[in-house]
Amino acid sequence: MTFIKTLAPLALLGLSAQAQQQHPFAETATPDAALSHSDKLHVVDSEALQSKIHGKNLLARAEDLYKLAELSLHDYNHPTRVIGSAGHQATLEYIYATIQKLGSYYNISEQSFPAYSGNVFESRLVLADEVIGNASAMSLTPPTKDNEPVYGQVILVANSGCSASDYPDAVKGNIAFVERGKCGFGDKSTLAGRAGATAAVIFNNENGTLHGTMGTPNDDQIATFGISAEEAQPSLKKLKSGKKLDAIAYIDAEVKTIHTLNVVAQTARGDPDNCVVLGAHSDSVPEGPGINDDGSGTLSLLEVATHLTSFDVNNCVRFAWWAAEEEGLVGSDFYAASLSPEENQKIRLFMDYDMMGSPNFAYQIYNATNDESPVGSEELRDLYVDWYEAHDLNYTFIPFDGRSDYDGFIRAGIPAGGIATGAEGIKTKEEAKKFGGTAGDWFDPCYHQLCDDVGNVNVTAWEVNTRLIAHSVATYAKSFDGFPERKSVAASGESAYERKTKYHGEKLFI
Ligand SMILES: [Zn+2]
Repeated sequence: MTFIKTLAPLALLGLSAQAQQQHPFAETATPDAALSHSDKLHVVDSEALQSKIHGKNLLARAEDLYKLAELSLHDYNHPTRVIGSAGHQATLEYIYATIQKLGSYYNISEQSFPAYSGNVFESRLVLADEVIGNASAMSLTPPTKDNEPVYGQVILVANSGCSASDYPDAVKGNIAFVERGKCGFGDKSTLAGRAGATAAVIFNNENGTLHGTMGTPNDDQIATFGISAEEAQPSLKKLKSGKKLDAIAYIDAEVKTIHTLNVVAQTARGDPDNCVVLGAHSDSVPEGPGINDDGSGTLSLLEVATHLTSFDVNNCVRFAWWAAEEEGLVGSDFYAASLSPEENQKIRLFMDYDMMGSPNFAYQIYNATNDESPVGSEELRDLYVDWYEAHDLNYTFIPFDGRSDYDGFIRAGIPAGGIATGAEGIKTKEEAKKFGGTAGDWFDPCYHQLCDDVGNVNVTAWEVNTRLIAHSVATYAKSFDGFPERKSVAASGESAYERKTKYHGEKLFI
């Protein structure tokens, strides 16, 4: 039984008709798809595929996507495409409908999997008499007891609160105060809960606010906040000098187990034993509509998939839209881990496209090397390098540290890499010289916020990167000549990559 039961909601919105008007090429998609029945298509040519990518068409799709995010207004009071929301369901239907319109060129499949869906309705943290303005309830946090405020003393936890012995007896019935670092936020919350704390406050150990996710929820976890180092400072000072500190913590939230799904479209043409696989994530965080993160990658893939139908391919191409990325790379992990050894071997490489048009962008390439990651990752990295250089565009390398959907593929022994344009990182002066934009600001000042809307996307960067995505697809769809053969995956224990990414660089998933 198919999870996507009906396309009616899109039709009701009038989006399909509007999409036809807004995308002039949508008219040509049908004849292209019809052509796929014949053998008259030419094998894909990178320049020809790239020339079909235009920013205005991407932008028109972004406007469609924002309207879908608004379907969540009823439940969330703001637009979002978080898993479990009407906005996300409509996003899945939009992806499905767009591919379906391309006719028999693609075979579409869906993979359903369980995931946690959280919603924080209200939260407040008071330390001494001070309301902590930027206190942030962690994603997937449980509520405080009975969804009511809890009162208690703030108890400083030793070290980083990553082992049970760090929690003094006094934590029982009180509020644990834990420094960020060394283990996941969910781990700290679990240990605080087991020690009897009624809430946990995790304070940042570097500049900036702190928002994270609990990861996989469990029954021991307790209501958990993140606060900045600056906000923690007065409390830390008091606690370290032996003074007592009262607090009120309140989180009204719910965590549900839901089923959501990955959507996968594979060309009917091309060698099915040698596949180019690429992905973006279909979901957003609960806080906003996620038009850059990762509406941009989602729509880039749809645009490239649409225009690929004008060509033949020698190798199969598989487009994937992962769900529940923001809950911890759940969909892509589930997919990669569920591949049989035979299916695993058919994937020659995986390319990740998450955040393609950050407003204060840099052209970032994941620094994936063959020393730390499966052989072939570095060749993919160099394909991006060569393309930016050929177009006289600057680029930077960024850590390949497990913050997006390539993670499950690397762990499954599949070469991977990708490009991005920056999340909450701060643009340096040097980068501002290379890319323009504002030094000292985040690459995406609306990262994981309500303002990640249509106006938040830099269309130039998005178009450039979508052409690069087209190039990556065209190159490998045509030939894997010079690209390393897949090695069989031996269970060889922890790899250098896994050691490096144990806590996903301890940052949020982008
Ligand atoms: Zn993302």
